[in-house]
Formats: sequence, structure tokens, C-alpha cells
Amino acid sequence: MSTPKTSVSTSRRLSFEFFPPKTEAGHEKLKDVRAQLQTLSPDFFSVTYGAGGSTRDNTLSVVQKMKQEGLDVAPHLSFGGDSTGSMQDLLKRYIEIGVNRIVALRGDMPSGTGGAQQMVYAKELVSFIREHYGDHFQLEVAAYPEIHPEADSYDDDIRHLKAKLDAGANSAITQYFFNADAYFHFVDRCQQAGITQPIYPGIMPITNYKRLARFSEACGAEIPRWISKRLEGYGDDLASISAFGQEVITQMCERLLTNGVPGIHFYTMNQAEPITAIVRNLGLDKEA
Ligand code: FAD
Repeated sequence: MSTPKTSVSTSRRLSFEFFPPKTEAGHEKLKDVRAQLQTLSPDFFSVTYGAGGSTRDNTLSVVQKMKQEGLDVAPHLSFGGDSTGSMQDLLKRYIEIGVNRIVALRGDMPSGTGGAQQMVYAKELVSFIREHYGDHFQLEVAAYPEIHPEADSYDDDIRHLKAKLDAGANSAITQYFFNADAYFHFVDRCQQAGITQPIYPGIMPITNYKRLARFSEACGAEIPRWISKRLEGYGDDLASISAFGQEVITQMCERLLTNGVPGIHFYTMNQAEPITAIVRNLGLDKEA
């Protein structure tokens, strides 16, 4: 099922995802976090986009600050309720400030809209960007080793992933998972379906069980029972949760890397310490 063993090396792509903070204090903290993570020499950072474009200006503002600091940064983007005109304005602005990578998504419905807004599939956003901006952007799309919650079937979801890549996306980043076999099986099935682009595993650190359980339920990422039972057992002891989480995630990443993944994308949750520890454990910091 899995590909041949290779040694863990620093030539794999390394990327770190942030979300745009809501407060001034959050922005200040994020500045420190990205300075710390920059010492690990990632290939790029990315900044999420709120459901329905709800963080449009905030995402742009964080991306602008990061470009001014000389960082390589990929804004996440979805149509949300935007017109094609305002989408073009935003993309032009990104080009002006030197952005050349986008994570193209459908996104989810913002809560409280009662499902009134129409959602535009990520494939259509990829086609739109390619049509208007040619090859200016490196385009990443989302992939789901445990299958997107709204997909009709496993094979359908892979078919839709292939359609996004065929429309011009360069590579995919996965939803997080805690079961490496789910990722390996998924990549095998993608290859059998004719997908040749790299599929980068997205990795979530474990630092807070209640928050993680809530998130995972919503996005269809399964927490294996043995992990949830251990985490439940720690109660509010965050230090033990973090120590256990670091061990579990390091071991899973080691397995992914020795089985030839092309790199790793970390969901940082705007925290430097857990990611720094895991990246150093793995020897993935490029200047190490
Ligand atoms: P799509 O690829 O468009 O697929 C959505 C669903 O529709 C899937 O079930 C798919 O199988 C199905 N589908 C696709 N095409 C068709 C078709 N033609 N006919 C029928 N069904 C179809 N969310 C945010 O709001 N902001 C972010 O910044 C953000 N960043 C993310 C980053 C990564 C790496 C990942 C993995 C997810 C991210 N998400 C983000 C979550 C994502 O927006 C949601 O999972 C969303 O529900 C699906 O987005 P998508 O781009 O995968 O959608």
C-alpha cells in the first residue's frame, strides 16, 4: 500500500498555516509567532480566509504585513458571496504586493446565513484564476484523506479532487488526520485515478482536546479511540496533553516522511511552540 522507504530529509516542502487574528493583541502575538517559525526556514506560510469571505480585509492585511517582512505567503481564497469583479480586485491587489501562491477553496457557509448564500466549487475558482491570471499563481487545493463530509462517496470525492487539479491546480494539501494509513490509502487511490500532482499531508498539533474534538467533528477528521481516550484521561492537564500530542504527531510524521511524503503543511493554530518542537524532532528545520 505504501511507497518505498526513504530517509527523513530537509528537502521536503515545509509550510505553516495561520488564521487572521480578530484583535490587536492577536496580531501582535502572531508577529512573534511568525518570527519564531521563520527560524525553521519554511518554504511558505499561508493565511486562512473566513467562511463566506468574512475575513477578506483581515486576511489581506495579515498577508500584506507578512510580504513587507519579506515572507513567502499564500492567502487562502474562496468566492464566498463575492462578485467576479471584487474577486478580480482582490487578486490584482495580491499580485501588486508580490503574492504568487494561492490556496483555492470552496469554503463553507458562514454560520447564521441559513444556507442562503450560493457556494462556488473550488474547481471553478481554479479555472477563474487560470483564465484571468494565467500561470502567475501556484495554486493549492484541499484534499480529504478521510473524505469530505458532503461528498457522495469516496470515489466521487477523488473525482472532484482530480477535476480541481485538471483545471490547473499544482498540488493539494490535505485536511488533518491522525491515521497515516488513511492518507496512504487515499494517495494510492488518487494515483489509480490518474492524479499525478503532489498531495501534501496537513498536520494538526494536539494541544487542547476539547477544541480539537469540536473541530474534528465538524470537518470529518477522525480522532482514533486510543488517542481520544488518552486525551480524555488527562482532563485539564494541558502540559500532559501537549507532551502526549507531541509524541503522537512526531511519530505519525516520521512514518509519513519515511514513506516518501513530498513535504508537510502544519496547521499552527497561531502557536509557535508545538510546531517548533515537532519540526525539530523531525529534523525538518531546513537550516538544522
Ligand atoms: P470543493 O473541492 O469545491 O468540494 C466541496 C464538496 O463538494 C466536496 O464534498 C466535493 O466532493 C463536492 N464537489 C466538488 N465538485 C462537485 C461537483 N461538481 N458536483 C458535486 N459535488 C462536488 N475553509 C475556509 O473557510 N477558509 C479557509 O481558509 C480554509 N482553508 C482550508 C485549507 C485546507 C488545506 C483544507 C483541507 C481545508 C480548508 N478549509 C477552509 C475548509 C474547506 O473550505 C471546506 O472543507 C469546504 O467545505 C470545502 O472546500 P473545498 O475547497 O475542498 O471544496
